[in-house]
Amino acid sequence: MTDPRPNIIFIMSDDHAAHAMSCYGSRINATPNLDRIADEGIRFDHCFCTNSICAPSRATILTGLYSHLNGVKTLRDQLDNRITTFPRLLQKAGYQTAIIGKWHLGHGPQHDPAGFEYWNVLPGQGKYFNPSFIEMGEERKIEGYVTDIITDLSIAWMERRDKNRPFLLLCHHKAPHRHWLVDEKHAHLYEDAEIPEPPTFDDDYSNRSRAAAAAAMRIDRDMDEKDYKAEPPAGLTPRELKSWKYQRYIKDYLRCVASIDDNVGRMLDYLDREGLTENTIVVYTSDQGFFLGDHGWYDKRFMYEESLRMPFIVRYPREIKPGSVEDRIVINADFAPTFLDYAGVAIPEEMQGCSLRPLFRGDSPDEWRTAMYYRYWMHLAQHNVCAHYGVRTHRYKLIYYYGEALGASGAIDESWPPEWELFDLDKDPFELNNVVHDPAYSDVLAELKEQLHQLRVELKDEDGLKKD
Ligand code: CA
Repeated sequence: MTDPRPNIIFIMSDDHAAHAMSCYGSRINATPNLDRIADEGIRFDHCFCTNSICAPSRATILTGLYSHLNGVKTLRDQLDNRITTFPRLLQKAGYQTAIIGKWHLGHGPQHDPAGFEYWNVLPGQGKYFNPSFIEMGEERKIEGYVTDIITDLSIAWMERRDKNRPFLLLCHHKAPHRHWLVDEKHAHLYEDAEIPEPPTFDDDYSNRSRAAAAAAMRIDRDMDEKDYKAEPPAGLTPRELKSWKYQRYIKDYLRCVASIDDNVGRMLDYLDREGLTENTIVVYTSDQGFFLGDHGWYDKRFMYEESLRMPFIVRYPREIKPGSVEDRIVINADFAPTFLDYAGVAIPEEMQGCSLRPLFRGDSPDEWRTAMYYRYWMHLAQHNVCAHYGVRTHRYKLIYYYGEALGASGAIDESWPPEWELFDLDKDPFELNNVVHDPAYSDVLAELKEQLHQLRVELKDEDGLKKD
């Protein structure tokens, strides 16, 4: 008898913001293949990462734990591969498991991928062209473009699978990570187009924390030639130059996304051809969001929406009604419990997320979280972004820039006066108006501070714990 448990294909890109996907209402591009997953499955509109940076988000996804409990708080931290992860548990439960593409959680006996029958990963960030891969410990170079290669390797692995056992495939793309190197096929896409600038492109960071103004991720000031890859034309005003840099950057970013979209299409076509569509859960997500000129920025890290939000779309014809949209708050720590649930494996008590299976099925659970906790640890380390933590509810977001490194690896040990930011997302969806000192919000502020405190206690993140 064939195993009734579903196959799981988890496709994750790097720095692909939801607002660069047409199924999320993108104003700047179209992603027809990714849209297929949303149209034939479910789109989550409030999926958030718990620490908006590459390695930490990946560690949280694998372990179902927040950064302070899985040990990967910053880009300097590596995952101890003896920790419990969902692939390890699925492998134990009889799944064939593989990870192909970006790993970014360290290398060597204690940090190489574990819990995988097969692994073939990029060293560190990896390269866009003719990248090296480490296949089960052996490094070799593969000719071609990284997104195509990761897809080729993924399909090749599915081809040689044991058809009598379910499989878990983590297909992790490098793109569209900085510096956005484009393949030949998409090099001329958008050539004659003018990509619209976001509404907050000329943000002047007034009426917000000092942290927002201090961040060094401005398109006009902080990008360099490696980002825009050409000599700027002479005679432009500073504002024109900013627009020019944005066009250079965003077009390359979107070209990298277009290649991912094509390659996801190839994976979906493969599943159709193999008759695997019905019994395979297909996820598309990204390790976190990205500023696409929003607030005049590129990069991520902040708890602001564009960076906090992850695209998260899932297709599973057996349980998910086509065209579903989910509004509840979910987090990257929920992914591991979800896959364990589908594999019929008990979810370890210590995991901090919840299975999303009821939401996939369109059930309305009596109780679901109404707030999520976020924390960024790399105080002033890169792009001069202050460490912060905060809480987001459906309507509000409270952020506390606590102004210290608190020993996080790689963080800069420099004290800044602590600051709070409070946003009313109903009235101010772009987070331009900090109302923390507005007396009209004093009750809301007190409630949110209490909620933040409770979350920190519940989630066991109690270093530097204080209520005000
Ligand atoms: Ca990333």
